[in-house]
Amino acid sequence: MSEEIGKVKIGLEVHCQLTSLQTKLFCNTDSNYRGKLPNTTICPVCMGTPGSLPVMNRKAVHCAAMVALALNFKISKRMFFFRKNYFYPDMSKNFQITQYDRAGGVPFATDGSIILDSGKKIKIGRMHLEEDPAKLNYDGTIDSSTQTLVDYNRAGIALIEIVTDPDMTNPKEAREFLNKLSSILEHLGVSNPSLEGSVRCDANISLTGGRRVEVKNISSFKEVERALNFEITRQKSLTSKGITIVQETRHWDDIRRITISLRVKEEEQDYRYFPEADLPPIIIEKQFIDNVAKEMPELPIERAKRFQKENHLSQETSQLLVREKILADFFEDTLKSSKDAREVASWLTVDLQAYLNERGEDLKYLKTTPKHFAELSDMVHNSEVSRISAKTIFLDMLKTGRMPRQIAQSKDLKIITDSSFVENIVKKVFNDNPKAVEDATRDEKAINFLIGQIMRQSRGQVNPATAHRIVNEKLFGAKKSK
Ligand code: MN
Repeated sequence: MSEEIGKVKIGLEVHCQLTSLQTKLFCNTDSNYRGKLPNTTICPVCMGTPGSLPVMNRKAVHCAAMVALALNFKISKRMFFFRKNYFYPDMSKNFQITQYDRAGGVPFATDGSIILDSGKKIKIGRMHLEEDPAKLNYDGTIDSSTQTLVDYNRAGIALIEIVTDPDMTNPKEAREFLNKLSSILEHLGVSNPSLEGSVRCDANISLTGGRRVEVKNISSFKEVERALNFEITRQKSLTSKGITIVQETRHWDDIRRITISLRVKEEEQDYRYFPEADLPPIIIEKQFIDNVAKEMPELPIERAKRFQKENHLSQETSQLLVREKILADFFEDTLKSSKDAREVASWLTVDLQAYLNERGEDLKYLKTTPKHFAELSDMVHNSEVSRISAKTIFLDMLKTGRMPRQIAQSKDLKIITDSSFVENIVKKVFNDNPKAVEDATRDEKAINFLIGQIMRQSRGQVNPATAHRIVNEKLFGAKKSK
């Protein structure tokens, strides 16, 4: 690879649907469009038929304000809506009602940020409210010929758009930013990022010496990292061959895992924004913001600090637990029936995460419940099973959904605490290995050999520490009686 490796700059543009709202942004139409028949959750307002008038959804302003406060934004005191004009079938009005950041068009909020685990601050220049366009289905087949079908059910759904500064220097930071944003949205309860298409992301990336390339159509956060990694390799290899990177928009093909040039743009497209005269300006009063601030739920950052303090966890473990709300909730549910928070945290952040990553599985589809993890953690805590056996139980319970004690029983994995049983095994091992017993009084290796035999005879069910103690007692006693 070339020595002259350009510095990478990444910025993100994210659209999040406010999925907690029951109605669309400017009409009373049901916003719960997923799984509905195409073009059934629509009305004259979201279709923009003549004579219809948009009415601002108050709850959307409330939700947007929550997001703004959680992302450290300054909320504008007075704001307007604009029409962004373009001709495309995903907008039957031929314009999108949105907010504009120039020529007096104030966005909803400015100067936000998210702090990464490293302490690095990613600035978010602005945030605005807008309506979602319709969904185009390119694979629709009509009369055995391929057609593009348009479904207006999504048109008019409330979106917030946030645009970061190009502060990220590698794809991992971009992924972390998105994970953090998702977790915040989930904690706020305003948006459910696990709903397909509810959080959508475009990325722009540039390497020093090259122009800005925008990558569109990235379907998931995992894909963001992949698409950016691909772009870095592509741009570096072109640069090393002396080819200049041009400003363009590229499309991420998640099947072939490559980006494809969509259009090379010479300048910003002119959407001829003009004020939306059908909507009055929104005035945000201090009292309103104070009320929203009072109602704010606990956010991931605060939750991680609480975990650290209440459960004596490391900062790193606490941050891992709040990366997804579902995991943090799972952790707290497990603590209701377990006494060892650190043991529980370790199973969830290390073993379970590795298990899910390896298989590309999701916590919410597991057969195991917090009760499973509480029982497993307590079994380890009480030395009922060895760590090795616990790992076997862990894999079994995830596969079958059986409870840990039931698995330990059926697989004979419990550590035997009955000391007469242990002593019998020790006696047998001593009788069978007189030479080793002889050597053991002066040779450490022989002691370890005897303990190894005891572990084998008991198939790992004897606690090694107990075996060690009994062997030493026996040897000490034997020596004395000689
Ligand atoms: Mn937008």
